[in-house]
Amino acid sequence: MEENRFCAGCGKQLEPGVSVCPYCGREMNGTAPAASRPASTEAASRRSNEERDSPAVGTGEWFVVLLLLGIPLVNVVLLLIWAFGGSASPSKRNFSRAVLVFLVIAFCVWLASFAAGLAILGGNPDLERRILELLGR
Ligand SMILES: [Zn+2]
Repeated sequence: MEENRFCAGCGKQLEPGVSVCPYCGREMNGTAPAASRPASTEAASRRSNEERDSPAVGTGEWFVVLLLLGIPLVNVVLLLIWAFGGSASPSKRNFSRAVLVFLVIAFCVWLASFAAGLAILGGNPDLERRILELLGR
């Protein structure tokens, strides 16, 4: 009368007859068939708690978010609040962090190309003069 069982420690399905879970090492007492013990791990219940506490960000809210992100300086402050303030929903928090990382990378690339441009111009007075003439026309 072998039944499918689930580990009480990690929730994974176990081969019939095993006495120790091969995934997490927890010992089975053999008295817990699958029906009486739903396979819910600690991590899974934490995840569902988080989803219940913070429902998905709606389309209207994302619209407002994108509007606000169009405002200079205000957008950076809002991104910092959402990314590290702890009050924003997980999806908005992750989005804000991704945007901030993107902005930092973009700024570094801009800075590097600006510095490279200065270095090239600095080493070529003739080129600098020609570009200034072009801009002056
Ligand atoms: Zn296990």
